Amino acid sequence: MGPWSIDCNLRSVTLTRDAALPWINVIFDTDLSPELQGRRITSVFVEDINGTLVPREGTSRWSMAVQYGPEQGEKAEDFRPELCAQLVRKGAGRTDTKVEIVDIRPWEMAAYLADRYSTGRAYLVGDTAHVIPPTGGFGGNTGIHDAHNLAWKLDAVMRGVAGPALLGTYELERRPVAERTLAQALARLQAWFKDPGKKLPSPEKIIDDHWVIFGHLYKGGVLIAERSSNMEEPFEDPQKPSGRPGSRAPHVFLDRAGRRISTLDLFDGQWVLLTGAEGSAWISAANKIPAAAEFSLICHRIGPEGDLQDSSRPVERCVRCKRRRRGIGPTRWVHCLEEARGRRQAPRSTP
Ligand SMILES: Cc1cc2nc3c(=O)[nH]c(=O)nc-3n(C[C@H](O)[C@H](O)[C@H](O)COP(=O)(O)OP(=O)(O)OC[C@H]3O[C@@H](n4cnc5c(N)ncnc54)[C@H](O)[C@@H]3O)c2cc1C
Repeated sequence: MGPWSIDCNLRSVTLTRDAALPWINVIFDTDLSPELQGRRITSVFVEDINGTLVPREGTSRWSMAVQYGPEQGEKAEDFRPELCAQLVRKGAGRTDTKVEIVDIRPWEMAAYLADRYSTGRAYLVGDTAHVIPPTGGFGGNTGIHDAHNLAWKLDAVMRGVAGPALLGTYELERRPVAERTLAQALARLQAWFKDPGKKLPSPEKIIDDHWVIFGHLYKGGVLIAERSSNMEEPFEDPQKPSGRPGSRAPHVFLDRAGRRISTLDLFDGQWVLLTGAEGSAWISAANKIPAAAEFSLICHRIGPEGDLQDSSRPVERCVRCKRRRRGIGPTRWVHCLEEARGRRQAPRSTP
């Protein structure tokens, strides 16, 4: 890690390297088709072995991951082929299964977060910035979000379109998300497996996987935050997107030259300004920004005279709704969509 120090204090948890959870991975061949009875599975959590069985390529190759406890005197060297084959049989629930062990390797399930995401000209992305336990499948996803966040900022600064301060927003936006994601992975780890070493803190409440992967909220960074009652929430439900600054843009169907498209189709590698029917002043102001051309800014007006039509009128209603209910909160978009679908009463005007 070169000059980097690693911050292992996650909420009141101290996970030092020595305290990371030790696991053994075993690759093996066996025929479990009688047990599976034609069912296709992606993984099985087996309490009897405090681990998982995961099918690999073909029909007979599998992997098993089991935890072990040095506190109970268990060592990685104990996991010889005979013991591993016994564990496989125990996990499969059959004593007579023929098991051929292919490979046995120890590894650590760790939870680390770098205390800074950059030094000088070097930036940390992915597992160099955070090591997230695999419970939940969040580690790779978080790394991809990091790379996406940093890539356009690097591009803008290297082209001279933005100042270097823009790069500082990478850590501001991404590190809090990694911290909360890590806490969610630890909570799953404790819900799904025993904790033989009793090293982990009491877990936080588990929230839906999709919220963690798609619903992260940036509270600060390269955005002008909106004052809202629940800005402390780390994630939102991506099926009920708020559309507020710092969240993913919501999907809404629109019509473009007679073709139905999604708002998300518009964000195709360039900056986009979306306005309502009366938003022409926004478009002229945006086009006067000197960097607009450098950022390939594209402006769309949604409304009868715009380039995009809004047949169910959620956008138009949202604009009106926003005017009537200042600070309407994070469910504004859903509220407007429901209103457009006739499921909700229009909000009363504020005096
Ligand atoms: C059991 C398990 C299950 C997982 N399941 C999921 C899942 O379902 N979903 C999910 O999103 N994530 C999952 N993850 C996490 C995910 O695998 C990692 O977060 C992700 O692979 C990290 O990607 P990365 O590119 O940051 O690092 P890596 O994948 O570690 O890539 C780093 C690369 O750099 C190379 N390298 C290192 N040092 C040097 C050097 N000096 N010079 C040149 N090259 C070097 C390495 O060889 C490696 O190829 C899982 C992890 C584990 C352990």
